Amino acid sequence: MNKPEGSTTPTDLAGWQALAATLSIEGRAYVSGHYLGAHQGETFACISPVDGRELAQVASCSQADADLVVMAAREAFENGVWSRLAPAKRKAVLLRFADLIDAHGDELALLETLDMGKPIGHARAVDVPATSRAIRWTAEAIDKVYGELAATPHDQIGMISREPMGVVAAIVPWNFPMIMASWKIAPALATGNSVILKPSEKSPLTAIRLAALATEAGIPAGVFNVLPGYGHTVGKALALHMDVDCLVFTGSTNVAKQLMIYAGQSNMKRVWLEAGGKSPNIVFADAPDLRKAAAEAATAIAFNQGEVCTAGSRLLVEESIRAEFIGLVCEALKTWRPGHPLDPATTCGAIVDQAQLDRIIEYIGIGQTEGAKLVEGGHRVMENTGGLYVQPTVFDGVNNRMRIASEEIFGPVLSVIGFTTAEEAIKIANDSIYGLAAAVWTSNINTAHRVAKALRAGSVWINHYDGGDMTAPFGGFKQSGNGRDKSLHAFDKYTEIKATWLMLE
Ligand code: NAD
Repeated sequence: MNKPEGSTTPTDLAGWQALAATLSIEGRAYVSGHYLGAHQGETFACISPVDGRELAQVASCSQADADLVVMAAREAFENGVWSRLAPAKRKAVLLRFADLIDAHGDELALLETLDMGKPIGHARAVDVPATSRAIRWTAEAIDKVYGELAATPHDQIGMISREPMGVVAAIVPWNFPMIMASWKIAPALATGNSVILKPSEKSPLTAIRLAALATEAGIPAGVFNVLPGYGHTVGKALALHMDVDCLVFTGSTNVAKQLMIYAGQSNMKRVWLEAGGKSPNIVFADAPDLRKAAAEAATAIAFNQGEVCTAGSRLLVEESIRAEFIGLVCEALKTWRPGHPLDPATTCGAIVDQAQLDRIIEYIGIGQTEGAKLVEGGHRVMENTGGLYVQPTVFDGVNNRMRIASEEIFGPVLSVIGFTTAEEAIKIANDSIYGLAAAVWTSNINTAHRVAKALRAGSVWINHYDGGDMTAPFGGFKQSGNGRDKSLHAFDKYTEIKATWLMLE
């Protein structure tokens, strides 16, 4: 879709629906600068969770497609058309790519919303700018990072340099399809690698569209490829491939563990994993503003329908304010009622697919069976639309041993757990296989820092939830992953370090 001259972003449901009617959706893979059907000709239906409508038939790639694309990516890497380009030139191309993403912002936001159900207001105001920013920030950094010289004796020179890995496969999830992809492809491309992006089978459309924009920006053929398809077919083929040098992943912990096995079974490719979470949001009675803390606790579980790796799904509240605070959270959740995702006023959209909705409903049942008290929501709604919607849900009286407190639900289901001392809060917070993120709310600077230091998590937020930017590394402790996305630390994933030693005569 090309944006008509002078067109502006729609401002209401009818406007977005009219724009959606003009979309022509591409479902093929992108290899060596061209759209291509899967080798076997297989496709799968891409169904919108907004209303159950089929959006497109998408190429269902498999082993043969993986072989073809890896060969193309290898050839592009070896011929140096991108890998040996001066960093400043790669920067210029990537900046054009970022500009094109912004220029096609309405179209990309629309594809994201139709494909995975998030509200159009968020897709337009969060997903699109965060994607272009990730690419722009990384591009701007790439000609400003230097190698090192070792502390050698006078007659020797030790150069420590970074070189691109080669062929990078990036396997990403469906909750923030473009953003998660951009956190991988930006540093991978900036450092000179050839990239194969495998989007989730639940949300392939924006990745497929981004590929053509990358070519338009000047990224050479074979350097950025997109292979849609299932994890157990094309994902597995890439993970086991003997000519993929580096595998970067965002998704569930179970699949992350499997990918480490695949690497061991094949060529010991580098494996970098961003996995699941069950993040604690700890509210002390002396939090500076309880109303604000409650509003952010609601956002932390309802934004993106709770389909967020850092969702504040365990709310730890000091007992003395527990009843009052739960009241404030439920009040705040009134602004998060499910609505039509194409309505710009909607804050809570559709759940990505039937399997995910079933999982959320099942966990709501498990919470009740385990004896937790359902105090808000708990039901599927808007069934007459043909779409998949669920109310943001709150359980009180949860203990950390319950499955709703220990397992990642990946939906808008909040578990409230009481505590009486900071030590108890820390113990509960850290009693998890995950360690992605955590927050602490208090007016006491000592409590804030003592708790923040004790939390075993990759990101800790004080008196807010979900802060951060491209300037800060993002990733997990424990079974939430390894390595870091974003910031200059991301370059560590995509480069090998070489020590070159010279003896002077
Ligand atoms: P998932 O693990 O089911 O799938 C992620 C990707 O892996 C998809 O592209 C899928 O096709 C692929 N895949 C599945 N099985 C595979 C296999 N055997 N071999 C190769 N590839 C395979 O996860 P999901 O349901 O798409 O996403 C939700 C999960 O992602 C949650 O656990 C969430 O916490 C996590 N997540 C983490 C972060 C983070 O930065 N830590 C960010 C977003 C989402």
